[in-house]
Amino acid sequence: MARVIVLGAGISGHTAAAHIRRKLGKKHEVVVISPSEYYQWIPSNIWVGVGKMTVDQVRFKLPPLYKRWGIQFEQAKATEIHPEGGNGSQNPFVTIEYTTPDKKGEKANIEYDYLVNATGPKLNFEATEGLGPGKFTYSVCSCDHAIKTWEALKGCFDQMKAGKKLKILIGTGHPTATCQGAAFEYALNVAHEIKQLNLTDKAELIWISNEYEIGDFGMGGAFIKKGGYVTSTKVFSESVLAEYGIRWIKRAGVTKVEEGVVHYENLDGEKLTQDFDFAMLIPAFAGSGMKAFNKDGEDISPTMFAPSGFMKVDADYSGKPFEDWNIEDWPSIYQNPLYKNIFAPGIAFAPPHQISKPMKSPNGTLITPAPPRTGMPSGVTGKIVALNIVDIINSGETNFRHKASMGKMGAACIVSAGYGLFKGQAAAMTVFPIVPDWEKYPMWGRDLSYTVGEIGLAGHWIKLLLHYLFLHKAKGYPLWWLLPE
Ligand SMILES: Cc1cc2nc3c(=O)[nH]c(=O)nc-3n(C[C@H](O)[C@H](O)[C@H](O)COP(=O)(O)OP(=O)(O)OC[C@H]3O[C@@H](n4cnc5c(N)ncnc54)[C@H](O)[C@@H]3O)c2cc1C
Repeated sequence: MARVIVLGAGISGHTAAAHIRRKLGKKHEVVVISPSEYYQWIPSNIWVGVGKMTVDQVRFKLPPLYKRWGIQFEQAKATEIHPEGGNGSQNPFVTIEYTTPDKKGEKANIEYDYLVNATGPKLNFEATEGLGPGKFTYSVCSCDHAIKTWEALKGCFDQMKAGKKLKILIGTGHPTATCQGAAFEYALNVAHEIKQLNLTDKAELIWISNEYEIGDFGMGGAFIKKGGYVTSTKVFSESVLAEYGIRWIKRAGVTKVEEGVVHYENLDGEKLTQDFDFAMLIPAFAGSGMKAFNKDGEDISPTMFAPSGFMKVDADYSGKPFEDWNIEDWPSIYQNPLYKNIFAPGIAFAPPHQISKPMKSPNGTLITPAPPRTGMPSGVTGKIVALNIVDIINSGETNFRHKASMGKMGAACIVSAGYGLFKGQAAAMTVFPIVPDWEKYPMWGRDLSYTVGEIGLAGHWIKLLLHYLFLHKAKGYPLWWLLPE
């Protein structure tokens, strides 16, 4: 009998747990530990943030599903990993802290044979003074945040209807924040709603980003095929912003927010401000903050985790110069190098290096997006980790038949740009591979047959279809496993 513990029930962890449970015999145990009883389809939080979807359209309760599947669910947060055992236990274990009202704060140790760390990102609002919910800016990174963001935005719409002109600022809230795609999508949706309400003359829309060029998205930008021509994501994204009446501030690292004012530094070293009436800014991401200890109780977190808090896996963390990196530096099986029974798929793994060229201001501030951490690779890496663990348990097979490197994997990104069956729009972009491979594709860094972009109503339909398909899959509805990640 083996016990597999999955930490986190997001896109990666839920996918991993579902495949492990489906493939492993019932004599083996699968345990999922996550602080919320809900699964949420994060990409649709954008629509919650503009009032087009309710929170219950993007989330559902996990316990009934896990009961049906035979997965043990603990509503708790993992705080410590003890990969060598200790504290009287010979076996590795995790320490968890319950988050349910009846057991809040109570701790427990649970032993494991295999551990999947799929804890995703900590939304690191604290890294920027004044940033985030409860302070001076809003967020759409979780559905709870998105509801409050919509309430605030609705209030702005009311003021605009009453004749007031407002400044709406959307973008990144830290010099190294990633997830530009989500903020970009939110900006376009807000612009679309304002247009639908005939309030265009009452809004000044501003995009603020740490990207060197608009359309970088933390992947160093891309050249894409569009309508038979090759264009850059810079031209593509700037055209879209211009079409939606959004002006932009680029190369801007937001360092502090006060009521109605963002302070930022740019790559010329200038320290500037931008005032606003409403702001939605994406925070920096960090690892979940778990600690690791050896059997003697010594803190081994620095060897298990990168300084960002993300877990080290089978990647090259030698810190070689940016110019020397190669797609082979990227992990393919997400296995911890020290403890071979620990894996970290999805956002939880530490990327080996920046994909966008690191840029510093004359004051030494790094103003460059971190690598993008999108849903498709999170699901795919969750699945391959699951299948490899199943192979090891079922047959002792340690050849790792299932691999998925961001240097060999494509990603599809559909940025909705307005909601509505006939009025909606979306910019659909695919890139292959995610990390450019300049050796294989010396001209463009990527394969242009699969690196394409278009904007139109069809993209919106696909985005809406994906919302329903991915929730169908996550809810374990019939034939869920046939739907791709
Ligand atoms: C607003 C927004 C829109 C997006 N839109 C898109 C899109 O259109 N397309 C796309 O491809 N990607 C999109 N993304 C990115 C996508 O959501 C992420 O890539 C994906 O959610 C990452 O999956 P994950 O499982 O690694 O992390 P998450 O989905 O964040 O899951 C992490 C899980 O771990 C849990 N957890 C955290 N800490 C602990 C702990 N200590 N112990 C136990 N559990 C813990 C969390 O509660 C959560 O359940 C978007 C992101 C945002 C924020």
